[in-house]
Amino acid sequence: MPKSPINFQVNAGDGQARAGVLRTRRGELETPVFMPVGTVGSVKATRFEQLEANDLDARIILGNTYHLWLRPGIETIRACGGLHKFIGWDRALLTDSGGFQVWSLGDLRKISEEGTEFRSHVDGSRQFLSPEVSMDIQAALGSDIVMVFDECAPGQAPSNEARQSMELTARWASRSRQRFDVLQSEGLDTGRVEGTTLTGAQALFGIVQGASHMDLRRESLNRTVDIGFDGYAIGGLSVGEEKSVMWEVVGEIGPLMPVDRPRYLMGVGTPEDLLAGVALGVDMFDCVLPTRNGRTGQAFTSRGKVNIKNSQWTTDTRPLDEACHCSVCQRHSRAYLRHLYMSGEMLAGILLTHHNLAFFLDTMRRVRQSIRSGKFTQFRQEFTDMVNSGAD
Ligand SMILES: [Zn+2]
Repeated sequence: MPKSPINFQVNAGDGQARAGVLRTRRGELETPVFMPVGTVGSVKATRFEQLEANDLDARIILGNTYHLWLRPGIETIRACGGLHKFIGWDRALLTDSGGFQVWSLGDLRKISEEGTEFRSHVDGSRQFLSPEVSMDIQAALGSDIVMVFDECAPGQAPSNEARQSMELTARWASRSRQRFDVLQSEGLDTGRVEGTTLTGAQALFGIVQGASHMDLRRESLNRTVDIGFDGYAIGGLSVGEEKSVMWEVVGEIGPLMPVDRPRYLMGVGTPEDLLAGVALGVDMFDCVLPTRNGRTGQAFTSRGKVNIKNSQWTTDTRPLDEACHCSVCQRHSRAYLRHLYMSGEMLAGILLTHHNLAFFLDTMRRVRQSIRSGKFTQFRQEFTDMVNSGAD
């Protein structure tokens, strides 16, 4: 078998849900997997030792092309030996392409065939991002999985507008592939790892767009698969459309995606969303919810959300989640966490974020076990019933 940048094997299935192993040039990870988001090279409020600790054991995290490019800048990261060395993380890294961040700038951007012009949120300077620039940046970052540069249409975009956006995404996917291949052949990727059974090169994932239009989504998938990528993502969801529309798209496209490649649902979601995605055959997820909500005083637990600000926890000596084995739940009470939060202590955000990440990662561990033992549907039902039973 010819060497490839990644190796993906599905070794158990239950309905459309699948469990497998994704081997990257920086270690193995089991799927379905949740990937904590480290936008500027930091999973907010979390030390890397904690990400590696047994109660989290995150095998892959995200970095963000747009943010790292604007600050500290690619020359800085290249001079420091790439993103892994710069941030002190040896495990796998996936970088998004910047397409989504530029899209979310709204009227501050101008799209042309060549790429997107916009003003930096850091210093207001005029910047230009294109498929080629995005591939150059991601090679300098040296991430293990690179995303193509795409154009995202709003969730409610009418058919003609969504078609133009989808076709532009397809042309940009081709240009991303071409530039990526040149960079790999010239050895310009800072994260190369030689001496494994893999090629040591970066892997490149394509992104399916097409808003809420199924014909466009199917066409986008076909065109993306025709170009050929190491994995495939569904993008442009969770961008203002109804949740039912999102699941309609994933339900239609998920099962049509190549069975032998990882399937990644970008930017999703709550614990219940992860289970819904897994049920439709998705292997990879990322979301800012566990970290962002942790910083604003909200914990995800097996009995639903806990708002640590509520006065009902003032003297509650129980942990955030009595079913959780994380180091925060083993040591601290809701009363103490509430006290920290109300006092404005930064430790509140750190501890809540740790628990939230543990909850997301442990949920995925249990999802994988349930798929392997053919009990995913039962697990999902029990999980959902428990979450809906409410924290008390
Ligand atoms: Zn916990």
